[in-house]
Amino acid sequence: MLAGLIRYGIRDDRVLEAMRRVPRHRFIPDTYRNAGAYGDHPSPIGYGQTISQPYIVAYMIEKLDVHPGSRVLEIGTGCGYQAAVLAAMGAEVYSVERIPALSRFARTALDDCRYESVRLRTDDGYAGWPEEAPFDRILAACCPPEVPPALADQLAVGGRMVLPVGTDLQRLVVVSRGRGSLERRDDLWVRFVPMVSGPPRQAEENDEETS
Ligand code: SAH
Repeated sequence: MLAGLIRYGIRDDRVLEAMRRVPRHRFIPDTYRNAGAYGDHPSPIGYGQTISQPYIVAYMIEKLDVHPGSRVLEIGTGCGYQAAVLAAMGAEVYSVERIPALSRFARTALDDCRYESVRLRTDDGYAGWPEEAPFDRILAACCPPEVPPALADQLAVGGRMVLPVGTDLQRLVVVSRGRGSLERRDDLWVRFVPMVSGPPRQAEENDEETS
């Protein structure tokens, strides 16, 4: 997997080292593991959701520029893999997921891999995590139509946010907060699941009906 990431242009040794250390297969539920955990493709994780392909995880974290001790807010915990990579880089990770069963799965996988320090919350990520704000870095693994205002508010001065934005056409956006002002740069075209507002419907808690 690492050779592929390097070939595609990932250069940051801290990202590559963290991705070498985190056992990706431990974050893919048994039922879906036979699709392979280390190929460069997204994998299903149940509840109609997927774990992002390794390249996009590496690319986003490289863009985010995480340092040991950075306070990082992630929206869309999913199975917890990306949160584990951030924790392996020494970040203090806060991650929000709206589907309770996924958050529970992530908790178990993170604890099994000794990333107990990652904080998880089951809630609507559009609101961020106001009690723990501000954050040095914010990352979203699901796509809102616009940059959510609460997330922009919770970004520290000097902070940076990387997230997909759009509806049909989605673009990775890098938002930086200088003193007072927000600067926005458009990056790659991407494809993520939508950032959905409101609590999950019953069917979304039921694997059979949604995946
Ligand atoms: N980072 C994950 C990828 C998760 S896929 C990983 O490493 O596996 C995106 C996740 O975003 C899904 O689990 C989906 O349920 C979640 N999501 C969608 N809308 C959300 C919202 N409003 N708040 C929090 N999570 C949301």
